[in-house]
Amino acid sequence: MTIDTSPPWDDVRNYVDGEWRTPSGTDGRAVTDPATGEALTRVGFSSATDVDEAVRAGQAAFETWGSTPVEERIQPLFELKRLLEDHQDELAEVLVREHGKTFDEAKGELRRGIENVEVACGVPTTMQAGHLPNAAPDIDETAVRKPLGVFTAITPFNFPGMIPLWFLPYAVATGNAFVLKPSEQDPVVAERIFELVDRAGFPDGVVQLVNGGVETVNHLLDHDGVHGASFVGSTPVAREIYERAAANGKRVQAQGGAKNHIIVTETADLEFAARKTVSSACACAGERCLANDVVVVERAVYDEFVDLVLDEARDRTVGYGLDDGTDIGALITPEHETRVRDMIAAGVDEGAELLLDGRDVTVEGYPDGNFLGPTVFGDVDPSMSIAREEIFGPVLGLLSVADIDEAVDVLNRSDFGNAASLFTGSGADARTVRHEADVGNLGVNAGTAAPMAFFHFGGWKDSFFGDLHAQGEDMIHFYTDTMTYIERWPDA
Ligand code: NAD
Repeated sequence: MTIDTSPPWDDVRNYVDGEWRTPSGTDGRAVTDPATGEALTRVGFSSATDVDEAVRAGQAAFETWGSTPVEERIQPLFELKRLLEDHQDELAEVLVREHGKTFDEAKGELRRGIENVEVACGVPTTMQAGHLPNAAPDIDETAVRKPLGVFTAITPFNFPGMIPLWFLPYAVATGNAFVLKPSEQDPVVAERIFELVDRAGFPDGVVQLVNGGVETVNHLLDHDGVHGASFVGSTPVAREIYERAAANGKRVQAQGGAKNHIIVTETADLEFAARKTVSSACACAGERCLANDVVVVERAVYDEFVDLVLDEARDRTVGYGLDDGTDIGALITPEHETRVRDMIAAGVDEGAELLLDGRDVTVEGYPDGNFLGPTVFGDVDPSMSIAREEIFGPVLGLLSVADIDEAVDVLNRSDFGNAASLFTGSGADARTVRHEADVGNLGVNAGTAAPMAFFHFGGWKDSFFGDLHAQGEDMIHFYTDTMTYIERWPDA
């Protein structure tokens, strides 16, 4: 099989009960290439009936799938991994066309998604709970993990190939049925991944795709047949989803937005730190929940570090994601580009020093693209909006502090706690930050604190609502409940 990478594409479909279906809601939206403005396809939104059909098909499939031997359950996942790897380049091309990031970034995100399929294949081991002989006189006790039913995941636009795979493989490996609601801004790559799901050998109804927007999400959250929901997206929506799903008695994990910091101490390798800082802030055009865009630098090396950052930033090429040599692709929509431009203007108004202005960037051959060049502010104050609010564009701001304690204080004053990075040559400073920073992921001499799939991934504070995070062992816990057998055999 081949994946259709050449737009215009037919309207985006749902995948329910092993069949392709057309969403039956009245709303929908056009999907456009962020770099060219070209119309790629249209996605229709799913109605309450569409959602109900998907959930009921999941419930029916769960009756058998939940008790299918685990070794059989992971076979379609092995096949899915093979198919994803065989079609990784085609998927990456689709992803670039609808999202705007670079081809390498698209391939990279798919690789991180595939990693989750691999980890989920370990479920015969990771789903085991525990056994204790002679837990009490003549009594043996055994804890077991059981799947629960139908789960849903509602995912954002910025990693449309990877984030669905934070959930789907674990949900089905543990014996549940799964319904994905991808972002309506770039839903095509998820549809293409489902073309591979369709071939991987899952029984009908185990894995399903419903497209849509807010109403579709609400139908999923309000449906009695949905046992739990995973959400990844912006903080205000994460909070709403958490409250609505919990009020409906569902398990819920809701990952929200971010504002991440980099700390650079005077003992750091400054050139290395500058390279990683610019990559962290500008990769995927800054549309990453792990983008570190507030850079807190020890005063003794502040001026030197600013110069290094500016050299690095000026070196980045803005362009079309499928063209060789592009470092920074397009932003998702013109509306989002305007929002980022407004935030840059707010930074200027609030008194930060605009050291590099990416607003006048032009990309030859792509006059209609949503492009912004790397933008660097100096002398940022932690109270400024550019230091407090998520920008989601290729913009970073630098500020100086006296020492590591002040740096940690700046970081911990943030409402968010998704991630942070520290560049240092000092183990003592690393230990201070490791002990004091209120973040879910901390990179030491690593610009983007993205854990491998066998570790959980999730933030703190306003970056996360719930308790069990995405990926790894947390997903096994989220998708199962434990039962304890207390056994006595008086004749033994
Ligand atoms: P978003 O919140 O606008 O949308 C996310 C999903 O929620 C989409 O599927 C959308 O259809 C749905 N949705 C939007 N508004 C809704 C509403 N009012 N009610 C119900 N559902 C709604 O987010 P986005 O713009 O697609 O993604 C960017 C955001 O995601 C950023 O804030 C980014 O930091 C965050 N993000 C967080 C993580 C993380 O791990 N914490 C990872 C990736 C992205």
